[in-house]
Amino acid sequence: MNTFPSKALVYGHRHTIVHNLVEGTYERLENEHFSDLMPTVNPKQLSDENLAPWETPSYIDNSIIELSRANQLLTKDQKLNELFEALQSVICKNLVLVIREPVTLTDMKRILESSEGYCFSSITLLMTYDESLYCNEFSQLVLDTPSVFTCVFYESPFNKNFADLIYFVDNELGFTKLKKPFEFVANIPLYQEAIHFNPYFNKKLYIDEQGYIRNAPETSKHFGSIHADYDLKEVSQQTSFQQLWTVSKEQCDVCKDCEYRRMCVDNRVPKRRDERHWYFEDPCNYDPYTGEWQQ
Ligand code: SF4
Repeated sequence: MNTFPSKALVYGHRHTIVHNLVEGTYERLENEHFSDLMPTVNPKQLSDENLAPWETPSYIDNSIIELSRANQLLTKDQKLNELFEALQSVICKNLVLVIREPVTLTDMKRILESSEGYCFSSITLLMTYDESLYCNEFSQLVLDTPSVFTCVFYESPFNKNFADLIYFVDNELGFTKLKKPFEFVANIPLYQEAIHFNPYFNKKLYIDEQGYIRNAPETSKHFGSIHADYDLKEVSQQTSFQQLWTVSKEQCDVCKDCEYRRMCVDNRVPKRRDERHWYFEDPCNYDPYTGEWQQ
């Protein structure tokens, strides 16, 4: 039977990361110093082959949903409930709800109450700042909805953190491609998934502001619309919908030489170079060949 090794090594061009998969921590060492530690390492214990393969019963693991007036998810309860039913049918556990338009406290109550009773274990709310929601009632609503993992208001006139749950930040609502070293986490599911899959695009689903069904905000091809008959299970099984799911970092130029490749959730769209190799048009702001970050 496969067991979890307590530690795993990821060699990069210049640095090596020692993942402590049990404690969820990691240490980054320069390769020249790392060689001094090698006698204490049991190579069998550190092999990926000792690690159980990544598995999930979900057809879709995480979804980003734009709630807008154009796609009616902000205004029609029936539309939203149909979508939540469809997401439950594919065992989607993690939801990101994006709201870029003005909403009232009543709208937010309705949306969060609609989400109850489904299998969602975490809901992240990403919203543009709205003064009418800067109130105790909204904070209490978020506190009273256990599935809300975090709520971030963008384009806020101030920066504030309320109970490590509701954040007000001044930057624009968007999905940045910049990596930040303090955002990397070492954990077993991510490490396992990254061996053979792309941890960003794998089992992700996106509903855009018009209601089109896509793999992710960064991909343009759509696979039907929530305004026609749709079956998310059938969509999730299409080969073209899954095209980026198995593009692991091991197959991508530069990333294959990076020590962060088993903990990096990268939303840049890989481009196919040939049958087995992929590349990115935009460079990452980390260079594994020099070990330096650019912000
Ligand atoms: S080079 Fe690739 S794996 Fe390394 S931090 Fe950048 S995107 Fe992540």
